[in-house]
Amino acid sequence: MTDCIFCKIIAGDIPSAKVYEDDQIFVFKDINPKAAVHLLVVPKIHLDSLESLTGEHQALIGHMILKLPELAKAQGLNNGFRTIINTGPDGGQEVGHIHIHILGGKGLAKFN
Ligand code: 5GP
Ligand code: ZN
Repeated sequence: MTDCIFCKIIAGDIPSAKVYEDDQIFVFKDINPKAAVHLLVVPKIHLDSLESLTGEHQALIGHMILKLPELAKAQGLNNGFRTIINTGPDGGQEVGHIHIHILGGKGLAKFN
């Protein structure tokens, strides 16, 4: 996907504040943080959204989710954190490469 901003970030063509990378995922700081800690966890392969997933992505999505507590704790979030996945226009998704937001620390608004 040549026009995908997150694919360009993963490739290093657009700079980002990377905090973690392995063979399957890339994790970096959100450019417009909504709380003291705001990370984006993205798969290295391009997938549009939750609606693009099939059974073949089960291990990848499992890997992303299982990494979340470790990523949050590495940012000092030792007392909990919030995760958000926006899906599609009505779900508020602005970047069409699936991503999990990790939010926490000062400035985290009450959600419900
Ligand atoms: P969405 O609304 O799609 O769930 O979230 C997209 C997120 O990507 C937003 O929070 C936005 O601030 C972030 N974002 C958009 N462009 C860039 C960028 O070029 N670099 C970084 N680090 N974050 C970005
Ligand atoms: Zn992409």
